[in-house]
Amino acid sequence: MHRVLAEPAVAAFEPQLGRETVKAAVGEILDAARGADRERAYGEIVASAVEALEGLRLQALVPVVNATGIIVHTNLGRAPLAGEALAAVAEVCRGYANLEYDLAEGERGSRYERAAGALRELTGAQDALVVNNCAAAVLLVLDTFAKGREVVVARSELVEIGGGFRVPEVLERSGAALVEVGTTNRVYVSDFERALSPRTALFLRTHPSNYRIEGFTHEAAPRELAELGKRSGVPVVEDLGSGALCDLEAYGLPHERTACDALADGATLVTFSGDKLLGGPQAGIVVGRAPAIARLRGNPLLRALRVDKMTLAALSATLELHAAPAPRARIPIYAMIGATLEDLRARALPYLEALPGAQIVDGIAYLGGGSLPQAQLPSLAIALASEAPDRTARALRRGTPPIVGRIERGRLLFDLRTILPQDDRAVVAALARVTG
Ligand SMILES: *Cc1c(COP(=O)(O)O)cnc(C)c1O
Repeated sequence: MHRVLAEPAVAAFEPQLGRETVKAAVGEILDAARGADRERAYGEIVASAVEALEGLRLQALVPVVNATGIIVHTNLGRAPLAGEALAAVAEVCRGYANLEYDLAEGERGSRYERAAGALRELTGAQDALVVNNCAAAVLLVLDTFAKGREVVVARSELVEIGGGFRVPEVLERSGAALVEVGTTNRVYVSDFERALSPRTALFLRTHPSNYRIEGFTHEAAPRELAELGKRSGVPVVEDLGSGALCDLEAYGLPHERTACDALADGATLVTFSGDKLLGGPQAGIVVGRAPAIARLRGNPLLRALRVDKMTLAALSATLELHAAPAPRARIPIYAMIGATLEDLRARALPYLEALPGAQIVDGIAYLGGGSLPQAQLPSLAIALASEAPDRTARALRRGTPPIVGRIERGRLLFDLRTILPQDDRAVVAALARVTG
């Protein structure tokens, strides 16, 4: 044990992992090697210990290069933040801030007011509220309006979004009873009307984020549903999920429904994420009619879902960039979406120069994050041939910086659209190290 711990390659992990963790990992390796000829296996023991410790090191939260071509990649932390958002976090959190303090009156203020103004401007809503994430926003809405009552949902929208967020289960947990209407492929406003009862609390629409029903289909038109809601005194809530604030057609993509669209169609409340197509920090945003938002503010559950000052700082700075197309391009995911193939081709050159055998190939990038499941962006990828692509991919994941790409037909592909341009140099160097 002492000999292994004293090996420089093993001791090097101590500052980051701590002596006890390193000892425990080495102890496990030694136990596993018990019975074997230890002297002969010594080199292997050290190598196994280093590998195990390397695995532990990679469990820490570290920056990763996303070369997958999936822009809003949930497993890789969704939206990278704009420089302005990072600066705002540093500025606001370096010292104290007016998080819950009204500077004009010198009295207690509300953190929930901080981003509401910008959200009203951008969506046309009467009021807005920010919580920890969109799942929390949906839960808060259901808890406030529908506990012990009924929520009517189209059968075509009983979705599972991933990460265990399934609409029927969230409803159940919130104490609301689900009333399914229509069929998987066809749902009409008249289905909602027939489901009305004195216990009806909400009509809920959910964005079918990650799948599409095609063929013989019909959906209840949002505007007609809102009219039915108005006539019968039932609020319509729309869970949009991805939260695009602008028309994605400007980027050559299909139109993705925005919060503005949903409100204009008459939704009472609309929920969406801060870190999908908004391109900001993890957050859940509710916009809509002022009296409904006021009821949400009055729910004691809000305390458990409350948003942090770092999030509010980053979110406010990101929302400011959404005011016009030019500043929006400083939000990393919009820089990625807006990059032309010429931009990507120019960035490919240093890769081709440094990596013998590398080729540029056409690729397809996806928005990801449960939005526009079939929308594809033409892209370019660096392709590297490898005799053992799985092994090379593993070495790249374990390198510094870790690089996550794709393997296709025995080749390693690195999509340039999702690699941040400022990372190109480090990625070229890492690829050269591992493959050369
Ligand atoms: C992603 C998504 C959510 C969950 O959002 P989080 O911010 O991850 O909590 C909820 N509803 C829909 C439709 C989504 O796409």
